[in-house]
Amino acid sequence: MKPPTFVGFMVSARCNAKCVYCPIGSQGTGISPPFMEPSIAVAAAHDLRENRFDGYLNIGENGEPLLNPKWPEIVRVLRKSLPEARLVIHSNMYLMEAPAARLLLKNGLFALILNFDGATPRSYGAVRRLSYAKVERNVRNFIRIRNHAGHPCRIVIAVSTLANFMANAYGISGPCADDSAQVIEKWRGHLRHDDAIQVNTGFWRWMNPYSQDCSSELLCPMAGRFDTDCFVATDGALYLCCLDYRTHIRFERVQEKSLTSVFNGESRRLLVDSIRKRVWQKVGFPCDSCPSRQEVLEVQMERGWAETPPWEGTRHPLGLHQTDDSPSTSLRALLPEHTAYLSM
Ligand code: SF4
Repeated sequence: MKPPTFVGFMVSARCNAKCVYCPIGSQGTGISPPFMEPSIAVAAAHDLRENRFDGYLNIGENGEPLLNPKWPEIVRVLRKSLPEARLVIHSNMYLMEAPAARLLLKNGLFALILNFDGATPRSYGAVRRLSYAKVERNVRNFIRIRNHAGHPCRIVIAVSTLANFMANAYGISGPCADDSAQVIEKWRGHLRHDDAIQVNTGFWRWMNPYSQDCSSELLCPMAGRFDTDCFVATDGALYLCCLDYRTHIRFERVQEKSLTSVFNGESRRLLVDSIRKRVWQKVGFPCDSCPSRQEVLEVQMERGWAETPPWEGTRHPLGLHQTDDSPSTSLRALLPEHTAYLSM
């Protein structure tokens, strides 16, 4: 049995930001328990080690990981059991004080991915409703500590301003001017040549209600990742997709059955098959009315895809599944036309 090559851990099902483009902070996941116990990481890591996993572990899936008071223990467990794995964190940086930064770097963090969505307290606050001053200080400190230590950890900053979101998601202009360029300018001088700062021009539709009219022809934007990626909820259950942030579609728990066998299991395989064939009545909620499927249709039309797009692709160095034809928002954000890599 092949293990996944990317495992996203929902270390926290809560978020202290209320970003305009993400439902988790403002609507909540409703998931219990709110935080993952380290014993779940122990069970998952044990199986992954047995199966010689050497891929990517993201500890910032669907929630702000640093809200979990036990996150340091989870990091230590994963690092100790899987020394070859590439550890990635998505964080909003509000709680990323110097001790947290040092702990992550000491445990061999491969990449830090964060959003910085405005160049001023007003434009930043309009998107994220977090303290600009505190986040800015923490980002600066992380960079300083990383650079001082000469640590190889890469930093990727995504820029999703309110104007950008309103224009791309709804085709209207927002109340603030787009200051993406100023954000890039602000951080460019602090980052290293192998870091990246990029303007996000694609947004998931997950702020839209699930009940919207969703044609059965629309493809699932995550379909290219099912053979390689899996997600572990706070209670240890595998779930299929980070856009299903309330984990309606879930499988066995890693404490009860090995992660790799659940990942390769019959029930998951049959479900993936139905999604790829678009047999939505078999799949059910939320995929039968998933607002994110609309986005694929647009990319499909834009690129003149055939009936079914190619699912195979290459892995992005930051653990994201990248294909030339992939419709994924996060992947599109990393494609060259949307990216201001510092080495360019
Ligand atoms: S249809 Fe939507 S919710 Fe279902 S797996 Fe695809 S992206 Fe996720």
